[in-house]
Amino acid sequence: MKIEEAQEMMRNIYWDRDRARGVNGTLHRTQEELAELSAAILERACTKAIEDEIADVFAWLCSLANLLDIDVSEAFHKKYTDACSKCKQSPCTCPDE
Ligand SMILES: [Zn+2]
Repeated sequence: MKIEEAQEMMRNIYWDRDRARGVNGTLHRTQEELAELSAAILERACTKAIEDEIADVFAWLCSLANLLDIDVSEAFHKKYTDACSKCKQSPCTCPDE
Protein backbone atom coordinates (compact mmCIF):
# COMPACT_ATOMS: atom_id res chain seq x y z
CA MET A 1 0.00 0.00 0.00
CA LYS A 2 1.28 3.46 -0.86
CA ILE A 3 1.41 6.24 1.72
CA GLU A 4 -1.35 8.19 -0.02
CA GLU A 5 -3.57 5.09 -0.10
CA ALA A 6 -3.07 4.56 3.62
CA GLN A 7 -3.91 8.20 4.36
CA GLU A 8 -7.04 8.01 2.19
CA MET A 9 -8.08 4.78 3.90
CA MET A 10 -7.78 6.45 7.30
CA ARG A 11 -9.84 9.38 6.00
CA ASN A 12 -12.56 7.00 4.76
CA ILE A 13 -12.71 5.16 8.07
CA TYR A 14 -12.21 7.94 10.63
CA TRP A 15 -12.88 11.37 9.06
CA ASP A 16 -16.12 12.06 10.95
CA ARG A 17 -14.66 10.98 14.28
CA ASP A 18 -11.39 12.83 13.64
CA ARG A 19 -13.25 16.04 12.74
CA ALA A 20 -15.40 15.79 15.86
CA ARG A 21 -12.28 15.25 18.04
CA GLY A 22 -10.40 18.10 16.38
CA VAL A 23 -6.70 18.81 15.88
CA ASN A 24 -5.79 19.19 19.56
CA GLY A 25 -7.57 16.01 20.64
CA THR A 26 -6.06 14.08 17.74
CA LEU A 27 -2.60 15.45 18.53
CA HIS A 28 -3.06 14.25 22.11
CA ARG A 29 -4.01 10.75 20.93
CA THR A 30 -1.02 10.69 18.57
CA GLN A 31 1.27 11.57 21.49
CA GLU A 32 -0.32 8.79 23.57
CA GLU A 33 0.31 6.29 20.79
CA LEU A 34 3.94 7.39 20.53
CA ALA A 35 4.29 6.91 24.28
CA GLU A 36 2.83 3.39 23.90
CA LEU A 37 5.34 2.64 21.12
CA SER A 38 8.17 3.95 23.31
CA ALA A 39 7.03 1.76 26.21
CA ALA A 40 6.80 -1.33 24.00
CA ILE A 41 10.34 -0.81 22.74
CA LEU A 42 11.80 -0.01 26.17
CA GLU A 43 10.04 -3.01 27.72
CA ARG A 44 11.44 -5.18 24.92
CA ALA A 45 7.95 -6.27 23.93
CA CYS A 46 7.61 -8.90 21.20
CA THR A 47 7.92 -7.78 17.57
CA LYS A 48 4.16 -8.19 17.02
CA ALA A 49 3.38 -5.76 19.84
CA ILE A 50 5.85 -3.21 18.48
CA GLU A 51 4.42 -3.64 14.98
CA ASP A 52 0.96 -2.87 16.36
CA GLU A 53 2.22 0.30 17.99
CA ILE A 54 4.07 1.40 14.84
CA ALA A 55 0.82 0.92 12.91
CA ASP A 56 -1.12 2.93 15.52
CA VAL A 57 1.34 5.83 15.42
CA PHE A 58 1.19 5.94 11.63
CA ALA A 59 -2.62 5.74 11.63
CA TRP A 60 -2.93 8.63 14.08
CA LEU A 61 -0.36 10.62 12.12
CA CYS A 62 -2.53 10.14 9.03
CA SER A 63 -5.60 11.34 10.95
CA LEU A 64 -3.70 14.39 12.14
CA ALA A 65 -2.52 15.15 8.60
CA ASN A 66 -6.08 14.74 7.27
CA LEU A 67 -7.34 17.31 9.77
CA LEU A 68 -4.52 19.70 8.86
CA ASP A 69 -5.12 19.11 5.11
CA ILE A 70 -1.56 17.86 4.63
CA ASP A 71 -0.70 15.18 2.07
CA VAL A 72 1.68 12.89 3.98
CA SER A 73 3.24 11.38 0.85
CA GLU A 74 3.80 14.80 -0.71
CA ALA A 75 5.24 16.22 2.53
CA PHE A 76 7.53 13.21 2.93
CA HIS A 77 8.83 13.33 -0.63
CA LYS A 78 9.35 17.09 -0.46
CA LYS A 79 11.61 16.67 2.55
CA TYR A 80 13.16 13.24 1.88
CA THR A 81 14.25 12.57 -1.67
CA ASP A 82 16.99 10.12 -2.53
CA ALA A 83 19.40 11.56 0.00
CA CYS A 84 19.68 12.90 3.54
CA SER A 85 17.66 16.11 3.94
CA LYS A 86 20.63 17.78 5.66
CA CYS A 87 23.90 16.61 4.07
CA LYS A 88 22.27 15.58 0.74
CA GLN A 89 24.25 12.31 0.77
CA SER A 90 23.10 8.70 0.64
CA PRO A 91 23.96 7.08 2.91
CA CYS A 92 23.92 10.04 5.27
CA THR A 93 27.30 11.44 6.26
CA CYS A 94 26.09 13.86 8.97
CA PRO A 95 28.12 13.69 12.20
CA ASP A 96 26.46 11.61 14.94
CA GLU A 97 24.21 13.65 17.23
ZN1 LIG B 1 23.01 13.54 6.56
